[in-house]
Amino acid sequence: MVEQQLISRGIKNRRVIDAFLKVERHRFIPGGLKISAYADHPVSIGEGQTISQPYIVALMTEYLDVSESDRVLEIGTGSGYQAAILAEMSKQVYSIEKFLSLAKRAEALLQELGYCNIRIKVGDGTLGWQEESPFSRIIITAATPAIPPPLVEQLSEGGKMILPQGERFSQVLTLVEKQNGELKSELICGCVFVPLIGEYGYKG
Ligand code: SAM
Repeated sequence: MVEQQLISRGIKNRRVIDAFLKVERHRFIPGGLKISAYADHPVSIGEGQTISQPYIVALMTEYLDVSESDRVLEIGTGSGYQAAILAEMSKQVYSIEKFLSLAKRAEALLQELGYCNIRIKVGDGTLGWQEESPFSRIIITAATPAIPPPLVEQLSEGGKMILPQGERFSQVLTLVEKQNGELKSELICGCVFVPLIGEYGYKG
């Protein structure tokens, strides 16, 4: 997977590659679908949700440019795989999931795998995690029509946020940097994610 899907498509950051080599993706895929764990596409994880294609997880992580001192907020815990990759590379990961069942499963697995630097909460991630803000990195792993304003507030000065922004069935992966209180955006590529459902996301 790492050689054929990531390195061959241009993923270069050694810390991203090392995290992918270390985190066992099959642990994050439920039951009978484990056979597809390393396949080049998203896989169902229950509740109508998916774990993203490995390359997209790697691309988002590479653009996010995570360092050992970063405090990262993830919106959309899902299986917990992206959180584990981020936890390998950063100081602390905070992750918010809308579905209790997914959050519970991810939390139990991440605990079993020994991650002490990931906190998960159930709720509407479009509101962010005010008490733990600011965050130097934010990643939204579901499609959003616009950047939720609370997440802009909770991003620290000089911080970076990556998100799939656009229409419900077609988005553009976008990197946002906060500089002097202003947002600077870079469009990366087209993508398709499940929707972010919440106050500042899609409505149901
Ligand atoms: N990052 C995940 C992983 O590594 O498995 C995959 C995320 S999946 C593509 C998108 C997730 O966003 C789903 O689990 C979905 O339930 C969640 N979600 C949708 N709307 C949300 C919201 N408002 N707040 C938090 N999570 C939300």
